[in-house]
Amino acid sequence: TIHDLTPVSEFEWEIPADARKGMRVGVRLFATRRLLEAVLKDNAVQQAVNAASLPGLAGPVVVMPDMHQGYGFPIGGVAATALPDGVISPGGIGYDINCGVRLMASAVPLEAAQPYLERLVTALDQHCPSGVGTAGSLRLSDADLEKVCRLGAGWAQQRGWATEMDLRRCEDGGCLPEADPASVSPRARERGRTQLGTLGAGNHFIEVGVVEDVYDLEAAQAMGLEPGCLTLMIHCGSRGFGHQICTDAVQSLQGAVRRYGISIPDRELVCAPLDSPEGRAYLGAMRSAANYAFANRQILAHQARLAFEAALAGVVRNFHLHLVYDITHNIAKLETHTLNGRAQRVCVHRKGATRAFGPGSPDLPPEYAHTGQPVLVPGSMGTGSWVLAGTAESMERSYASSCHGAGRVFSRSQAKREIRGEALLRALEKQGIQVRAGSMGGLAEEAPQAYKDVDEVVRTVCGAGITRKVARLRPVAVVKG
Ligand code: 5GP
Ligand code: MN
Ligand code: MN
Repeated sequence: TIHDLTPVSEFEWEIPADARKGMRVGVRLFATRRLLEAVLKDNAVQQAVNAASLPGLAGPVVVMPDMHQGYGFPIGGVAATALPDGVISPGGIGYDINCGVRLMASAVPLEAAQPYLERLVTALDQHCPSGVGTAGSLRLSDADLEKVCRLGAGWAQQRGWATEMDLRRCEDGGCLPEADPASVSPRARERGRTQLGTLGAGNHFIEVGVVEDVYDLEAAQAMGLEPGCLTLMIHCGSRGFGHQICTDAVQSLQGAVRRYGISIPDRELVCAPLDSPEGRAYLGAMRSAANYAFANRQILAHQARLAFEAALAGVVRNFHLHLVYDITHNIAKLETHTLNGRAQRVCVHRKGATRAFGPGSPDLPPEYAHTGQPVLVPGSMGTGSWVLAGTAESMERSYASSCHGAGRVFSRSQAKREIRGEALLRALEKQGIQVRAGSMGGLAEEAPQAYKDVDEVVRTVCGAGITRKVARLRPVAVVKG
């Protein structure tokens, strides 16, 4: 209950390391009292406590205000492990490896595009294949799939589907080093072959928005976010390829837990030491999936640019979409963090959490050196989304991380029971939001009411100082898988 949590501030709570047997570190939660009360209805906080018992944690497990229950770890959780005995855990990354968000922006005022919006959303729907297990137009040979695994968004650039600026504005340049496609199972390869350049279903979307409010003019200018102009957000990941890699690892690492004598409070926390053969194989496969996802979002971005051209060329000027940034919110990466006054190499697991590097961080492109990393926070198709920026404080308090969305309040099944897709569609259209959805049931699962209040989530992470507000986006059209 809430009484087991120690308030640190209006936006931060703590569970000390000695609160429960088996915990090796504490838990730090970012939430307002109201958000926390909602969160305590599911198992997310218990899952964070469970995660705090993993071997080799370098500091507290951190949980973001958009937290909810996930597989093993809570969604919204961040955990950093370190050698010599630190582990890597697929549950701390999630099934959709490198699920992430890409934001593009234009200089097209909404008024200029308004008469063509219906045409635009139809074009986006046609250019960007969506749905469960849907194949795109690409059929990758073994050699090409390996290249995608090694090069990420760089593979798309080789095909002429990415500019240099696109790659520069992706987290990690759109490619994680040391991917090992040899560690990817034949089943995963099979699923990966046909799904590159597709959106998928459910929570994944392409959304046209408009820059509604600007909170930091200088940062918004650096990002090319112009008040009243159109934006495009893409949310998707590594499709069946990453899902299969996670499925394979969850199974194979059960054995590693026994072999290395790791005691875990929940089977779903399976893991392996970072420098064991099992741990290295999963890292190599996971990075392959991450690079597949970077390539996937880049190809979808290319297709979305073609859709903008098809719908707007000749009727609207300057319809080019430039990339603001591309982030991943399901990943584990080796990073250097200063913990207890000492710079340490740690493996940061972010599951439903976004990296939020502060100003001056070496991974950022020069144009963001001053503003800090853009942090992209989708809210829901009916409310709004946020662009935030990383701060120096996030480097100290949250392993340079912030929230990744509004986070669910209803489970998918509950949303489906309580909300009718058709009624929701009509309500959104009445609000002026155009919708293309693969299925009415799928739409209901993603209803705005199924999510927390994104403005309160953002107020929390900004109040706690781990990110600051740059701009708020309002949705005008959405394509749902
Ligand atoms: P996840 O990756 O955990 O599935 O979702 C990320 C976040 O995206 C969710 O927490 C939710 O707040 C947000 N979201 C889900 N559907 C939509 C949508 O259609 N539009 C926008 N803007 N945000 C969405
Ligand atoms: Mn996903
Ligand atoms: Mn996601």
